[in-house]
Amino acid sequence: MSVFSVKSLFTTFFALLVLQACGQKTTVPALELDEMPAVAKSPKEYNSLTPEEAYILIQKGTERAFTGAFHNKKDKGIYLCRQCNNPLFSSDTKFDSRSGWPSFDDMIAKNVREQADADGYRTEIVCANCGGHLGHVFRGEGFTSKQTRHCVNSLSLSFVPESAVKNEE
Ligand SMILES: [Zn+2]
Repeated sequence: MSVFSVKSLFTTFFALLVLQACGQKTTVPALELDEMPAVAKSPKEYNSLTPEEAYILIQKGTERAFTGAFHNKKDKGIYLCRQCNNPLFSSDTKFDSRSGWPSFDDMIAKNVREQADADGYRTEIVCANCGGHLGHVFRGEGFTSKQTRHCVNSLSLSFVPESAVKNEE
């Protein structure tokens, strides 16, 4: 391959990257962030949500199993609340539950709040900062030694890779 064609290949590649980045900005907020954003303290500062995200976070809906962006993700990093950027889960506590939803056996600090679900038997989990619906918590299933499964919708989360978290420090 000549030097010229390698160069044009790179140009095409970067043009595609730029196109993709612009497209993401105008339509869907990035799922994967390149830096740790500040936690939004008031509703005015919350990230705007797509209808799909609002259906989960506000109307307490559930995304279809195996359709989310994060159920299979194994990269190291921090999962944030999609609405307010509150750090909720570390990849260190993520495990494969084969349920089709991201599963974590612990939370970061006390950033996830539990409350009785309206269905009368499950325990709902919400972001302790903004109250956005995340999913449900189940205990005693034997997946990990902590006997806890935070079953979370991918649409409730954003992801900051470990490299971007370290850049902050
Ligand atoms: Zn939140």
